[in-house]
Amino acid sequence: MLCPICNGLEELSVQCRNCSGDADDCGPTLDYAGPYAPYEPNADDSCSMETMTFNPRCKHIVYCAKCDYTDEVTVSLWSSTRC
Ligand SMILES: [Zn+2]
Ligand SMILES: [Zn+2]
Repeated sequence: MLCPICNGLEELSVQCRNCSGDADDCGPTLDYAGPYAPYEPNADDSCSMETMTFNPRCKHIVYCAKCDYTDEVTVSLWSSTRC
């Protein structure tokens, strides 16, 4: 799975929720826990099995320069077999 935005295959075009203008992609958010970003579960993690499931989505920060508004969008990942 790959993110078409992170890989430059597609341009992220979203509407600003505040002014309906064009918002620009500012890159993926840091809380994206993909296969290349493993994290060590904490000791008190025993009842949070759901966090272990990989969610095939990439969250991106978008920014509207018109009204200085920052938003977050979820991008569906492409199957890597598509290449
Ligand atoms: Zn991405
Ligand atoms: Zn705006």
